[in-house]
Amino acid sequence: MVRWSVLGGIAVVLVVSAVVVYRTVKLGAAHEVEPLPQPPLLLDSAAIVQRFAASLRYRTISHQDTAQVEAAEFERFHAFLHQSFPEVHRQLQRERVSNYSVLYRWRGTDTTLPAIVLMGHMDVVPVEPGTEDSWKYPPFDGVIAEGYVWGRGAIDDKITVMGILEAAEALLRSGFRPVRDVYFCFGHDEEVGGRHGAQRIVTLLRQRGVRVAWVLDEGGAVTTGVFPGIERPLALVGIAEKGYMMVELSAEGRGGHSSTPPRESPLGLVAAAVAAVERSPLPARLEGVVATLLEALAPEMPFPQRLMVANQWLFKGIVLRQLQQTPRGNAMVRTTLAPTIFHAGVKENVIPSVARAAINVRLLPGDTPEEVMRHLRRIIPDRRVKVQQQSVLSLPSPVADVGAVGFQLIQGAARTVFPEARVVPYLVLGATDARYYTALTPNVYRFLPVRLTPEEYQTFHAPNERLRLSEVLQAVRFYATLLFHGAGGSSGTP
Ligand SMILES: [Zn+2]
Repeated sequence: MVRWSVLGGIAVVLVVSAVVVYRTVKLGAAHEVEPLPQPPLLLDSAAIVQRFAASLRYRTISHQDTAQVEAAEFERFHAFLHQSFPEVHRQLQRERVSNYSVLYRWRGTDTTLPAIVLMGHMDVVPVEPGTEDSWKYPPFDGVIAEGYVWGRGAIDDKITVMGILEAAEALLRSGFRPVRDVYFCFGHDEEVGGRHGAQRIVTLLRQRGVRVAWVLDEGGAVTTGVFPGIERPLALVGIAEKGYMMVELSAEGRGGHSSTPPRESPLGLVAAAVAAVERSPLPARLEGVVATLLEALAPEMPFPQRLMVANQWLFKGIVLRQLQQTPRGNAMVRTTLAPTIFHAGVKENVIPSVARAAINVRLLPGDTPEEVMRHLRRIIPDRRVKVQQQSVLSLPSPVADVGAVGFQLIQGAARTVFPEARVVPYLVLGATDARYYTALTPNVYRFLPVRLTPEEYQTFHAPNERLRLSEVLQAVRFYATLLFHGAGGSSGTP
């Protein structure tokens, strides 16, 4: 009797182990798409680098106060593009949107096919006052030194604008003609929300009934060190982004002199509510984009990690717990609640009669503002604290399809230009201009086709923004390969 149950136990363990190992091995062998052949183009690398450096000398700065747009700088930048890319400006339709954004249409030979859209932005963030001295080279001089091009906008996002236009110019000179329509959409106010640029361009395209197959915007780059334990460089292609909303917690009371305080004050009530928000996050879950990401990453993981990812039926809890250990990992598996502003009190001996706190919410795809509000009301049962939804800047985006042709093309072009990297889909945690384009198609991808070390990544919106010289060329090669195959061109014949 005892012997049989021991044998039975051993059998179960053996079967479970076999399943676990089988699934691990199978996931480890996940195939990668073939690289796409590069179009035969003559690229003058020295001239391309010079033009890129020149593009950083225009102070196309976005200010929070949009009335402050540096009109003359945008005008000069437009003229620079005109002069740098004569074939693009001779053969493509060009239209200005909200004065400083630009929409190009490269007409295909078969306009019944859905178009493709490549987007980017011409504006840059200001140099934060007080940080000027930490720049090794002045931020708007476009200096080429130490194997880099230095300047504000080098990686965010003039490399996209210049890379796309260089690729188009070279393809045009080679006699390439796209089969489907291609649009280049370059906003001028991405850094302050994109309401006049991206949003307006999308409205125009919708009004014109333009059908879009897929969209590519800036996003993750080719990099290492994002996921502990994974050595191989990863090309991170965003397939969705989180939503953004604000909630206010507030309480009112009688106030009065602090020498005779009430037992509870508005300040204390709101403070307790904020503490509850930090103590009681929304539940974490392993599905959707993050599940897709883990599966794509699995072949690069060390065996024990891969074993757990491949067998989520058994190890889901452990995987989730590990992810939540870093703020970044945590933000990928749940809607986050961040208290960001607290207002109460004006004088040290006066009890404030009102207290308010602002909670910044980043919604995971699949979650809704209503669910967040229900959660907050549940964890803040004290009815004296008002919980109010203030604004929803953006809902979580739809999730782009990793099986669709757009992703396959981006993956193929990335494999060509960055052969050392594995392409993986990921979740963009911030809100970007790309979110407007999901009104045209759910298949909006977010990828910046350059290699960035973790240190170079730190220069986004920071001092010493720079791009390695080799990567300027890589971006051009990537867009050229993507356009050549994606637009279905008649190769080389005029
Ligand atoms: Zn950007």
